[in-house]
Amino acid sequence: MTVPPPTPNSALNAPAAVPIAANRASLGDMAGILRSVPAPTAETLAAVLRPVTEDPSGAAILCDIDGTLAPIVTRAEEAHVPDKASRLLGQAARRYGLVACISGRAAADARRIVGVGGIAYAGSHGAELLEPGATRARISPAFESWAGRVEAFASERDDPELRRLRIRIERKGPIVAFHWRGVPDEDAARTRLEGLAREAEADGLEFHWGRKVLEIRPPVPIDKGQAVRELVERSQVRTAIFGGDDATDLDAFAALDALVEESVLQAAVKVGVRSDEGPAAIVERADHVVDGTDGFVVVLEALLPA
Ligand SMILES: [Mg+2]
Repeated sequence: MTVPPPTPNSALNAPAAVPIAANRASLGDMAGILRSVPAPTAETLAAVLRPVTEDPSGAAILCDIDGTLAPIVTRAEEAHVPDKASRLLGQAARRYGLVACISGRAAADARRIVGVGGIAYAGSHGAELLEPGATRARISPAFESWAGRVEAFASERDDPELRRLRIRIERKGPIVAFHWRGVPDEDAARTRLEGLAREAEADGLEFHWGRKVLEIRPPVPIDKGQAVRELVERSQVRTAIFGGDDATDLDAFAALDALVEESVLQAAVKVGVRSDEGPAAIVERADHVVDGTDGFVVVLEALLPA
């Protein structure tokens, strides 16, 4: 949990017999021990989530989709959010002030995969926002203006070599993703995409590496952190939780830290979804770590009354 610095009256400073520094160190040690426990107890999880669960109407439930709600699959278009996770998100939408999925996918694709109409979707890492029940996503104008150039770049590279390497192209509005998961020669595919990333940079575009995916994006500063900030500020929630598994989710973690620092939020909870492929920082910077999408379902369950 990220909390503001303790006030002089806070419980942390209360026991006069224990030096403050020692007290803090022991809390830090405890956090380290808790993170190393493979299967956190229900009590540990309940305690971590308490800032959010004790005031649901003033809390935001935010999470990534692929690798967090939907197990990673070889072909991104075949990703599927288990019914249980969708059902829990729907229940959360009726209880909490804000529920939103923040994904690298196009917003409409995100909603198709999650299958819950009553929550918000920030797509393309926040470049698009699909409100609950809305039929069309709103795209950031600065981002939209680059869509044609990104598409032209991708089309020019959709050549026989790319197909021979079995690299798959996914068009996500103003972002184009090149997937190499499960291709016959992953090293060759990665080498080709490293070249492609350099070409994108030379064309004035941006690139981003994820879990066996290279994304080509408009050179417009946008990330999941900005999406978190926008969603939190306009909904005026007081606490928020974000769950994610990959490098782009670290921006969301950082945004939560900043919003607490600025006293926009009273508290925030960062849940890291651990995987073999995810960055170590997802575990290191999380307040609570779970294993894979099954672990995140347990978090969703703990957010709702038994
Ligand atoms: Mg993910």
